[in-house]
Amino acid sequence: MTKTLTNWAGNITYTAKELHRPHSLDALRALVAESARVRVLGSGHSFNEIAEPGADGMLLSLTGLPPAVDVDTTARTVRVSGGVRYAELARRVHEHGFALHNMASLPHISVAGSVATGTHGSGVKNGSLASAVREVELVTADGSMVTIGRGDERFDGAVTSLGALGVVTALTLDLEPDFEVSQHVFTELPLAGLDFETVAAAAYSVSLFTDWGRPGFRHVWLKRRTDQPLTDFPWAAPATEAMHPVPGMPARNCTEQFGVPGPWHERLPHFRAEFTPSSGAELQSEYLLPRSDALAALRALDEIRGTIAPVLQICEVRTVAADRQWLSPAYGRDTVALHFTWVEDTEAVLPVVRRVEEALEPFDPRPHWGKVFTVPPAVLRGRYPRLGEFRTLVESLDPAGTFTNAFARDFLHPLS
Ligand SMILES: Cc1cc2nc3c(=O)[nH]c(=O)nc-3n(C[C@H](O)[C@H](O)[C@H](O)COP(=O)(O)OP(=O)(O)OC[C@H]3O[C@@H](n4cnc5c(N)ncnc54)[C@H](O)[C@@H]3O)c2cc1C
Repeated sequence: MTKTLTNWAGNITYTAKELHRPHSLDALRALVAESARVRVLGSGHSFNEIAEPGADGMLLSLTGLPPAVDVDTTARTVRVSGGVRYAELARRVHEHGFALHNMASLPHISVAGSVATGTHGSGVKNGSLASAVREVELVTADGSMVTIGRGDERFDGAVTSLGALGVVTALTLDLEPDFEVSQHVFTELPLAGLDFETVAAAAYSVSLFTDWGRPGFRHVWLKRRTDQPLTDFPWAAPATEAMHPVPGMPARNCTEQFGVPGPWHERLPHFRAEFTPSSGAELQSEYLLPRSDALAALRALDEIRGTIAPVLQICEVRTVAADRQWLSPAYGRDTVALHFTWVEDTEAVLPVVRRVEEALEPFDPRPHWGKVFTVPPAVLRGRYPRLGEFRTLVESLDPAGTFTNAFARDFLHPLS
């Protein structure tokens, strides 16, 4: 590539020899069929080398293809093409009087890249964003089109697939009727005496934030559906000013608070769609573990908060309902997700990431596929009971390993 290309955070520089942005599906299929090593680059919001094809490989961007968002009001589904981001998808779905079940903290991430890594929002009854997918359309290594829908025996490996099966050119997602959400922020929730299950279920989506500078949580963000009964939140005081998750950052970039009702897509993300950060001075890690271990895991982190706090911008605690995708970090277990936004200093952050991983080890944590982690591949393999089936799926759709990269090779092969 003539120009240096990095991920959003700037901590990864892609070494791929070329970047292609085809303008038609036929051109994309021809390019893939001619190439020995390919990886799709979504919106580049991952913090590790998951999208890196290697120095002899090609990066493929889908931003040159027509951005389709086709709502089927009878089937209550939307078919969205591979390069579209959640902000655009959500706006169009809302215009048709429908909603997605959930969104991540940021709407600027691509739909295909998000579901490939098991990206999630929060809510004890809300599955990851991939759980809304009902059909995947892929261009495989020889340039052919393959469609895999719910009910197909390959489906549970085909959505959260780390980009290892082929180019996802379109996804069909379930929709539900449009709903409104009001967002309420509370401050200073103690860790001592915390009834995690009750707090996590106190609204449709709940996030707890702490800087680990002292025990307990600095804020709790409740996203309440206005069509569901309003429950009290007696454990913390309502905020008196608008908040940003990171202390000291401007709240004007955040979605509306103070309980003002609004459309689901303008409340479920923490950040406004019209505020687009082009790059980020941060690193992120996240570990997903059984929700039943949430309190024990939080106490384990509390014991090392003196190590965490100096390199931390903010820690967010969310919940995710169990799902069936073989490589989903929420596979088969109702989950608590412990997220860390670090300062952008990799050298200072990595030893702390290792320390956090040691503290969480007893809880069998699965790291977020798109974030910074150091869990050794052999350990990680043991945390995915359906990895064997996924490997068979990769071998059947991509026998020559066109979509394999170092990241996938390390974690998926060989089976231990
Ligand atoms: C500021 C910020 C906020 C975030 N908030 C959340 C959050 O709330 N919850 C959460 O769970 N995560 C969150 N993340 C992580 C983020 O959602 C994931 O890293 C996600 O994968 C980003 O999507 P992307 O398109 O940018 O992926 P990329 O980094 O571009 O790619 C990720 C993977 O998907 C593959 N891929 C992308 N598009 C395709 C395609 N069309 N076909 C085949 N493979 C494809 C790539 O090859 C790669 O393997 C956040 C990240 C940032 C930077």
